[in-house]
Amino acid sequence: MARESQASPDQCVVILGDQLDPAHLLVAKLNPARDRVFMAEVREESTHVWSHKARIALFLSAMRHFRDDLRSRDLKVQYLELGRHSHASLAAALTAELKLHRPQRVTMLQAGEARVQAAIEATVERAGLPLQVVEDPHFLVQSKTFRAWLGQRKQPRLEHFYRATRKQTGILMQGDEPLGGQWNYDTANRASFGRQGPAQLPLPPAFPPDKITRDVIRLVNREFPDHPGTLHSFDWPVTPADAQIALRDFVDHRLASFGTYQDAMWTGEPFLYHSLLSSSLNLKLLNPRDVLDAAGISLQDNAAPLACVEGFVRQVLGWREYVRGIYQARMPEYAGLNALGAEQDLPAFFWTADTDMVCLREAITQTLQYGYAHHIQRLMITGLFCLLLGVRPQQVHAWYLAVYVDAVEWVELPNTLGMSQYADGGYLASKPYVASGKYIDRMSNYCKGCRYNPAHATGEDACPYTTLYWDFLVQHRERFAHHPRTALQWRNLER
Ligand code: FAD
Ligand code: SF4
Repeated sequence: MARESQASPDQCVVILGDQLDPAHLLVAKLNPARDRVFMAEVREESTHVWSHKARIALFLSAMRHFRDDLRSRDLKVQYLELGRHSHASLAAALTAELKLHRPQRVTMLQAGEARVQAAIEATVERAGLPLQVVEDPHFLVQSKTFRAWLGQRKQPRLEHFYRATRKQTGILMQGDEPLGGQWNYDTANRASFGRQGPAQLPLPPAFPPDKITRDVIRLVNREFPDHPGTLHSFDWPVTPADAQIALRDFVDHRLASFGTYQDAMWTGEPFLYHSLLSSSLNLKLLNPRDVLDAAGISLQDNAAPLACVEGFVRQVLGWREYVRGIYQARMPEYAGLNALGAEQDLPAFFWTADTDMVCLREAITQTLQYGYAHHIQRLMITGLFCLLLGVRPQQVHAWYLAVYVDAVEWVELPNTLGMSQYADGGYLASKPYVASGKYIDRMSNYCKGCRYNPAHATGEDACPYTTLYWDFLVQHRERFAHHPRTALQWRNLER
């Protein structure tokens, strides 16, 4: 017994699959002779929602690369590979680890997901050990700063948070004023591609699978054969070095048109001018400060116009930090909200793309192929359809959390429940994002190849979006007809 306690590590540092920061705060402070890192691939994390194969492969490959990097620095890493242990959950795997090695204490960065944090806390408490939880320094706005900001207002609004955060960080600021004299370039950032379509689009860089990723792809195909999606086109960044290449490529080739076309869609073009950086950011392969700095330098060098850079900064510094703050402040009760009383089931074609609605077929097909759709496809194609149809928000949430490579709950849930489904009754975003098929027709070429007509609400060729849009207005007239931001849409209903 005495010998075993002498060999016990001082601390066990738990590192989760979305905490793969090359400058991980707790790793930097490790004593290689005394401390151990614990990481585990567990089935539950791939099955608690029916995860896309690419999402599973991305996490596992990035984790294994991170493990190898730690080991190359002579750190002791206890790493459990899926298929080589029998623990079904992270809690079970950690219980076994703590029993075997009896560290003095357990440390971790705050988990992004409330469920995971609660499971680890309960596990460590059951083991009778102290747990130290440290705030994740990845984010620019600390939890306590967000809570203080939130505490001062009845109703949070992105625009107010975004301006406060620009002032606090000095990003795109000239003294106390926004650079260029305007906070917001939204009106410049809503162009469609017109009839002619996009010009020659720059190809995003490829990250062909290396040996680790190829092993993981085989593992995922073997362990999760029935899960949605394919791995044929898997080439997401899985290391910090890959993520830096992806960032550089975006800034050099796509940022200058990002803002202008950020809401546009086009058949067969899944990526357009988007950054494709969300999965690298969410796994912490990439730091948002580096991303914002790179965009700022591009502006200084006149390589990208202010409107485009502001549109991008608004997403990374604004929305990303804002939804995280809301998630932390409102969980766990937020996950159960359903303000509009939506009770329909998610249509089965969301898992197959088998539909004659071209817009949905495009968005879902590319989702199944790459684990990616851009923001307007998520908000105004798949999300809008669920909102208009009245699908139960928790089912919509489970789908979004399953099918995107960037899906982690702290960012996915507020976007789905709050922004897209209005399930929080307008807490996160002031109005429901509702539109008819005419919006989709304006922002894309999808309707040109569709058997439905976006202008028709009735008849054989009535566009389901347009029919459901008018139905939504009728159903929710009481709630929205006098709302300052939606009254115009409902006045159209009267006409
Ligand atoms: P770009 O269009 O290039 O934007 C740049 C970056 O800004 C993104 O990488 C992302 O980090 C950030 N960003 C942009 N919009 C948002 C937003 N609304 N909230 C938070 N960050 C934002 N994003 C996720 O990262 N994970 C999710 O699980 C997720 N689920 C979503 C679900 C729904 C219903 C909706 C409407 C949006 C969701 N988003 C999610 C936000 C957004 O759609 C994605 O961040 C974006 O499409 C990722 O592609 P990109 O990296 O090319 O982003
Ligand atoms: Fe989608 Fe309607 Fe357009 Fe068809 S007509 S692509 S269903 S919006």
